[in-house]
Amino acid sequence: SLILKNVRKSFQQGDSQIEVLKGLQTNIEPGQIVAIVGQSGSGKSTLLSLLAGLERADSGEILVDNVNLVGLSEKEITSFRAQNIAIVFQQYHLIAHLTALENVMLSLEILKMDDTREKAEAALKELGLGHRLDHFPSQLSGGECQRVAIARALVVKPKILLADEPSGNLDTHTGDKVMDVFFEIVRKHEITTILVTHSEALAQRCQRNLRLEEGQLREI
Ligand code: ATP
Ligand code: MG
Repeated sequence: SLILKNVRKSFQQGDSQIEVLKGLQTNIEPGQIVAIVGQSGSGKSTLLSLLAGLERADSGEILVDNVNLVGLSEKEITSFRAQNIAIVFQQYHLIAHLTALENVMLSLEILKMDDTREKAEAALKELGLGHRLDHFPSQLSGGECQRVAIARALVVKPKILLADEPSGNLDTHTGDKVMDVFFEIVRKHEITTILVTHSEALAQRCQRNLRLEEGQLREI
């Protein structure tokens, strides 16, 4: 499960300290698919960075299956993230000189897992990319690149998947098709999913919606 207890985060902006997250509380069950909505600047991406351990909360607790991310050292958090948390961004962040298959294999190689080729191939096939294994990112469409990024995220079987506007760069039709397969896979594998989105339609496809507003998370 994913539990937030009184999570706070401020940033220095010029001479002032701005508190973006003012004591977030929530409890997310394993396998739950949650949308985070809220105005631009409300702190949605900041929250995902804290959940990924890419930024540190100022105070509070972030418990992933009882491990408090806020208490881990930099080294511990890097290894915890690699094993447990996957992230999909609006930009695909694929490695240009590696093929689709190699991009996905890399996630597994970092964790020194076995059968990397077989697992990566299976993940790409699940995303409908069995015919694109040896293509480089420059030879793929935007929707295909995002599918590779999703395969790369999910191939390690993370406990938590964080997604920040994953279809934000795609046209509506392509985005919808990518999100169809996204939802299908996270449901099938029962992966706890936190999806940040501006899209009302996407939020409605999640089991639960939380709004970030005035530094607080509100159930809607
Ligand atoms: P959007 O919907 O536009 O993506 P958001 O809800 O994701 O917005 P954040 O990116 O989390 O918003 O930013 C929340 C606030 O925190 C903003 O006021 C932003 O300027 C500030 N902020 C975020 N990161 C930093 C940083 N590294 N340094 C200073 N201020 C920051
Ligand atoms: Mg954002």
